[in-house]
Amino acid sequence: MTQHIAIVGGGYIGAELAKSLDAKAEVTLIEPRSHFVHAPAMIRGVVDPALLDRALIPYDSLLKHGRVVQARAMSVNGSGVTLEDGRHIAATQVVVATGSGNAAPFKPKGDDIAAFRAENARIHALLKAAKSVAIVGAGAVGTELAGEIAHAMPGKRITLISDQPRLFPDKPAALGAGLAKKLQRASVQLILGQRAQNLESLSEPYAGSLRLADGSEHEFDLIFPVLGSRANSDLLQALPGAQTSSAGRIKVDPWLRPASFPNVFAAGDVADAGDAMTIVATSRQLPWLRRTLLGLGKGKSLEEMKPYAPWGEKSPLLVPLGPRRGSSFLGIMTVGDLLTRKMKGEDLFVKKYRTLLGQP
Ligand SMILES: Cc1cc2nc3c(=O)[nH]c(=O)nc-3n(C[C@H](O)[C@H](O)[C@H](O)COP(=O)(O)OP(=O)(O)OC[C@H]3O[C@@H](n4cnc5c(N)ncnc54)[C@H](O)[C@@H]3O)c2cc1C
Repeated sequence: MTQHIAIVGGGYIGAELAKSLDAKAEVTLIEPRSHFVHAPAMIRGVVDPALLDRALIPYDSLLKHGRVVQARAMSVNGSGVTLEDGRHIAATQVVVATGSGNAAPFKPKGDDIAAFRAENARIHALLKAAKSVAIVGAGAVGTELAGEIAHAMPGKRITLISDQPRLFPDKPAALGAGLAKKLQRASVQLILGQRAQNLESLSEPYAGSLRLADGSEHEFDLIFPVLGSRANSDLLQALPGAQTSSAGRIKVDPWLRPASFPNVFAAGDVADAGDAMTIVATSRQLPWLRRTLLGLGKGKSLEEMKPYAPWGEKSPLLVPLGPRRGSSFLGIMTVGDLLTRKMKGEDLFVKKYRTLLGQP
């Protein structure tokens, strides 16, 4: 029997998995957007919108044998995937990799890439005009944004606010301490251990005032809410036995199955497999998925193949502060400007993902 693998979502997991299986099985990738959205470049894209020309990458050269169906999946089950226009894509295995959403302008609100570009341009203009900027949330995206603005637009009053007592409290202290020092040197004010009480929007930047936990009030020309990603898990929530965990992610069994269907898998940000919601962490699932899906195609049973083992807390984290500076945790040690710049800061992996999508 021909093995037909349907993959829902063409983000980091879906696009790379589809390509790696393209010559081995019949692959259908279901993705409503015309372009792959390379998220790491969308932070620098706020200060340099021209970067979007290279970091929004069309899907048309991704697969040689299989097909990319530009559509939104409405339901999945053990027989395949049903699309919003009612078409059914039959499959022997289904992988759901619908990822996560984030505030504007970091990930698109909908599927229209032109609308996403317009939103980027609108927010860039607001940022250019702003004298004072607050970033609420000091995870990787908020911290990188502070570094990018300080690098590209010196002279702005930038404040990075976090309710945590230090930056990256779940990583070794050297990472947060190094980044804090570099941000302060770039004149970014850090307010740590203080929750913003009155955020007017969680989904897009706005002008206004912030009240902090100590009762102080602060006015800003632009406030970026950067409070983390939330999984796109509607499809999986509808499956029998599916259970939601933090950030809307769906729990999976040791073979990355979210529900009682033996041939429906979930991976990437949408699946709570014990990996952080990052490309670096969830990419660990790719070789396991490929091996396991091809094993099933050869008639092996899942249980005779090794279950998936996540990174856990050792997953690396690369945090550039603009193209030159930054600090990174590499699983066993923390490194500074040079390695962060070479590994990520200079190019933000744009070349890697353009190559994956078959674009020069
Ligand atoms: C601004 C920003 C910067 C980041 N930078 C980094 C970084 O430098 N390094 C790092 O490791 N991580 C980074 N991350 C995290 C990283 O982007 C996510 O971990 C990654 O996108 C998850 O990949 P994914 O394949 O699970 O899903 P996604 O990349 O979110 O892709 C999911 C895809 O599924 C599609 N989809 C959704 N619903 C449906 C449906 N019903 N039918 C069909 N398709 C659907 C979407 O259109 C989307 O294309 C960053 C995140 C943000 C927001």
